[in-house]
Amino acid sequence: MKIGIVGSGMVGATAAYALVMQGIGRKIVLVDLDLKRAQAEADDIYHAVPFAEPLEIEAGDYTALRGCQIVIIAAGVGQKSGETRIELLGRNAAVFRQVVPSILEYAPDAVLVVATNPVDIMTHITAKIASEHGVASSRVIGSGTTLDTARFRILLGRILGVDSPHVHTYVIGEHGDSEVLTWSLTTVANIPLEDFCRQRGIVLDDKVRAEIDNGVRRAAYHIIDGKGATYYGIGSALAKICDVILHDQRSIMTVCTPQPEIAGVTDVTVAMPHMIGGDGIIDSFPLPLSDFEQEKLHDSAALIRSLLDELVAVGNL
Ligand code: ADP
Repeated sequence: MKIGIVGSGMVGATAAYALVMQGIGRKIVLVDLDLKRAQAEADDIYHAVPFAEPLEIEAGDYTALRGCQIVIIAAGVGQKSGETRIELLGRNAAVFRQVVPSILEYAPDAVLVVATNPVDIMTHITAKIASEHGVASSRVIGSGTTLDTARFRILLGRILGVDSPHVHTYVIGEHGDSEVLTWSLTTVANIPLEDFCRQRGIVLDDKVRAEIDNGVRRAAYHIIDGKGATYYGIGSALAKICDVILHDQRSIMTVCTPQPEIAGVTDVTVAMPHMIGGDGIIDSFPLPLSDFEQEKLHDSAALIRSLLDELVAVGNL
């Protein structure tokens, strides 16, 4: 069970560390443009192995990805000063045009797990490039709102006094400002959220809901403001996605993969609940949202589609 990680910056290296801590996979290979950095991360993480699970971890070039069942893509370039979002996207698209074929040359059967932001768009681009190499889009999975869903569950669970995996709810749409918290579908112990709160005497008024919404939607801004980057949450989410794939678990997670249509927007990639197994995406589940949430999901998908259209217009997609 071999997992490759291309891009061993903060997110890629933290994903590797999370895999080691949880004993997911048997061998991890780190690939980066900066081989010295990848080597240093591999060595540092390897020294955690005696305190965790027996796993091999090493740095290498693309040839070292041979035999990988999964390759996480966390490679990317940061925003230059004065650069527009679409220019940055163009540069990251260029990185992916080099990275994705190189991965597929040596790991043609791997499931590709995309983490680079903006993840919805980078996943769409990855699937497009992969399709040119005969790879079905079901084998391309973006981390989507996996982390946002986890944030929603833990913040709501704290108010409810319930362990977060037992708060059943999702964040869907863009991994970003326009994402949609599915309040109307939230249940705990099969009980609709409002009934649960009434039964337990918990106040969940508009103010508390707005605080939770802000805590989920603005989490990355707040963390980046304090420490410059986010990586523990996303690294753990990536490890969980790998676990699900390696064990063919058929778990439902809010990942993203290209869809023919979402909330009236065609040919778009934003997160929805998907069933994931050993070969990637098995199925996608549209949700019976409230009218307000459906409208917000449409807006979110339309926003991503408009950015994809801009990339097409400048010849980057
Ligand atoms: P993040 O916080 O998202 O992990 P970083 O900047 O820490 O961002 O990491 C991004 C990584 O991607 C860097 O280590 C960089 O060297 C790597 N990278 C950039 N371009 C390429 C490329 N073409 N191939 C492989 N790795 C790349």
